[in-house]
Formats: sequence, C-alpha cells, structure tokens
Amino acid sequence: MRSQEFMAQQSIVIVGGGFAGVACGRRLRSLFSPSQARIVVFSEENYMVFQPLLAEVAGSSILPEAAATPLRVALPGVECRREKVVDIDLASNELVFESFEGLKKTLRYNQVVIACSSGINFAAVPGMADHALPFRTVADAVALRAQISQQLERAAVSDSPDQRCFFLTFAAIGGGFSGVEVAGEINDVLKAVEKFYPTIHPEEASVILIHSRDQLLPEVSPSLRDFTHRKMEANGVKIVLNQRVKLVTAEGVTISDGTLFKAATVVGTASTAALPFVERMKASKDKGRLKTDPDMRLTGYKNAWAIGDCALVMNAFDDQPAQPTGQLAERQGKQCAANLYAVLNNQPTKPFYFKPLGMLCAIGGHNAVAEMMGFKLSGFFHLVDLAHCLFDEIAQPLPKSESRHGLDLGTPLLPRHHRRQDRHRQPHPRRLFHLRLLDLQER
Ligand SMILES: Cc1cc2nc3c(=O)[nH]c(=O)nc-3n(C[C@H](O)[C@H](O)[C@H](O)COP(=O)(O)OP(=O)(O)OC[C@H]3O[C@@H](n4cnc5c(N)ncnc54)[C@H](O)[C@@H]3O)c2cc1C
Repeated sequence: MRSQEFMAQQSIVIVGGGFAGVACGRRLRSLFSPSQARIVVFSEENYMVFQPLLAEVAGSSILPEAAATPLRVALPGVECRREKVVDIDLASNELVFESFEGLKKTLRYNQVVIACSSGINFAAVPGMADHALPFRTVADAVALRAQISQQLERAAVSDSPDQRCFFLTFAAIGGGFSGVEVAGEINDVLKAVEKFYPTIHPEEASVILIHSRDQLLPEVSPSLRDFTHRKMEANGVKIVLNQRVKLVTAEGVTISDGTLFKAATVVGTASTAALPFVERMKASKDKGRLKTDPDMRLTGYKNAWAIGDCALVMNAFDDQPAQPTGQLAERQGKQCAANLYAVLNNQPTKPFYFKPLGMLCAIGGHNAVAEMMGFKLSGFFHLVDLAHCLFDEIAQPLPKSESRHGLDLGTPLLPRHHRRQDRHRQPHPRRLFHLRLLDLQER
C-alpha cells in the first residue's frame, strides 16, 4: 500500500464465495499485505461451485467434485468462514452471522463486499416448492442425477406405456442458462442410455423446456438465442415459449394457457429473489438487485460494495446493466478489489468496464453453443476447454475427480488431495454413466 495513512489493519469482509467473491478475495489478497488487511470470505459452502458444469454432474458426465473448488485452495491467505450471514447493518458497519452452534454473532468491518447472488423463489408458483427440484448447487445436481436414474429404472419395469411415458417425461422450467443446460443434458442422457434399457421405447422419453419469454437465454446475444433454440429442437427437446407455469403438481406442470404437461420430474430454474438479508438491507434495489454506482459501491455508501448476480452493475463497455453471468461476476470481483484498493489509497476508482469475450452454453452432454469473436459455434465441445477461454484462472473448473476429496451430497470439501497439476478431463465420462448412477443409489 502506498499511502502511509492506512497503516491500521483494515477488515475487509466479502459475503459470498462464488465467481464474484472469490475473484475479489484473491485480487485483494494480492494487493494488500496481511498486516494491511484482514480479508474474510463468508460462504455457505466451503467450496466454489462452477455452475456451468452442474448439468454435466446431473447427467453423470462428470463427478460432482469436478464442479467444485475448495475455497481454502482458491483463496490462500484469506480467512474462509462457512457460516451463514443473516444481516448486514450498513449504518453501523456490522455483519451478523449464524455460528455453527446456532448463535447470532457480529463482526465489524471497514469495508464490506456483497457477492451472495440471489436465492430461489419457489413460492412464486403454487406447488413448485413441493413438486419441483431446484437446480443451483452441487447437491441439487446430485439429487437430479439420482432422480433421472430412478425414473429410468421405474420405466424399465413398468408394463403400462402411459406410465413409462410419465416416468420418462422431464420438464425444465426457465429458459436461462440453467434451464437450457439441464434440459439439454437430460435429453442427451436419455438418448445415451437407451441401449441399456431394452424395455423402454425411445419415443417414450421426452424433455420439455418451458420459458415465459419469446426467446431462450436472455443472457446471450439474440442471434445465439435463436441458434440455441434451433439446435435444441433438432436434438429433440420440446420448447414451449411465452408461457408461464401456473401450477406444479405430482402429475406435472400446467402452463398459462391451461395445458397440462404430465411429467414425473419437474426442475425449477426460473424464479430467483433477493436473499432475505439483502431484502432487509437499507439500500436501493431494482427487482431485488442491489443498485450500485459505476465503481460498484452500493449507491449511497462509501464502504459497501455489491458485485455478481445480487448487484445491478452498469458495464461502461456498452452502458448496459451487466448480465448475471459467471464471466461478468468474476470480472466485477477483480475490478471491485482494485477500486477498493484505490479508495483506501485516496486514488480515483474506475467504472466497471468489461468487453465480454464470448458466450458459451452447454445444451447437453459435450454439446454446446458458443459465440466467440463474432463466430457462432456448436458441436461436440469439451466444456472445460471452452471455459478456459472465457473464465480466468480461479473460476475454471478442476475436472479431475480424484483431485477432490469428501464432497458428497453437499457436505464440505476437503482440500487435502487437491493438486493443480491434476487438472485433466475424465476419460469418456458418458461411458461411465450407468456405473455412476448405480454407485450413487448404493450409497
Ligand atoms: C445451473 C446454472 C448454470 C449456469 N451456467 C452458466 C454458464 O454457462 N455461463 C455463465 O456465464 N453463467 C452461468 N450461470 C450463471 C453463473 O453461475 C452466475 O452468474 C454466477 O455464479 C454468479 O456469481 P456470483 O458470485 O454472483 O454468485 P455465486 O457464484 O452463486 O456465489 C454466491 C455465493 O454466495 C454464498 N452465499 C449466499 N448466501 C449466503 C449467506 N447468507 N451467507 C454466506 N454466504 C452466502 C454462496 O454460498 C456462494 O458462495 C449458471 C448458473 C446456474 C445456476
């Protein structure tokens, strides 16, 4: 730190250990020495989730561990706390968290960075909370993997064609990244395992993707949306646009025009809402997202910042609100750290500026659509390879399952066997699909 005025140690607290929070924490640690700043990251998981790979976890293309990086590995020199933040008092610079013993504790900060993303809002649609599966975390992806396996097994032994169709119909609600990725992956899985289930007729299996707007993937450019739609339909996914889901029951999904799609499995990816503590914060919001100044400080505050999906950040590159994507969240994290450093050194901050490198969305298995340098691509990509082009080092997935240890259905991840040089893809993961599903059920 160049300024002599800030010799007292600063306490910088980041709420969230995802794309934005990890990028911010790493950059801050490289800018401030330990004597200059204590950097604390709160995260409900002790690993960072690489969400773009969750669909592959659900489809057994990769093991769950491959979509997660232990925070203590990603954040050397940063205090990682796996406790839930329940309140932030911006006026008194205090954060309240729930300890492992269930006690409410407080921590004072000099600077706070809010990077907690949003929550799932299943209450928005009747029946959703009881009958739909969420799809945000590694545990959700593992649960969906088990559900796919179970429906295949049930269909395989059913004598009724109607029942078989019901078991083998999967409905995904929401045409954003997660809905598209999960629908594409399930569709791919169903095709890939056909040969192992001789009693199931291929036409009995179907995947329906329901979206309330007129195009899929609002996060990407219009031409890539159209491209994705065509590719997915060509792969056999039924796409229903301009329809809201009215009701979810054990029977399936009813959409606004009254049509009932019978489906044994419904995956809800659409509804998000601000987390309760963000809701309570005395800060300006727009549709639940925290409003920020161009340098990512919370509007009206000097020492509070908001980045990633929970924040409304303008991108000076195109003067548009930054889309809620991993790529942008990561870049916001880095620039937020640089701005925070500038503030503590009495230097000017810079507005958030990032020229997106391209867009990538998996539409099933190793198939993806991508737009890079003006080219639209689709085909048999390895997602991890493509991710290397779009994400910086910290946010890249570490695909080799052996480099993770102890991650199972949402339990913490031990960094013990993590070795960076171990990064490489698994050999032909799809071939292991059957085995993996069996493994899971036996656990
Ligand atoms: C299934 C899926 C697929 C996706 N695919 C793509 C894709 O292909 N490309 C792309 O660019 N984007 C994709 N996205 C979007 C991308 O993952 C998000 O934009 C990105 O993760 C946002 O980063 P973030 O840091 O804001 O939040 P996250 O990465 O979600 O991290 C939020 C962090 O906050 C922590 N947290 C939350 N609440 C609390 C609390 N109360 N106390 C303590 N910690 C808390 C969580 O534990 C977590 O560590 C996908 C998202 C999903 C769900």
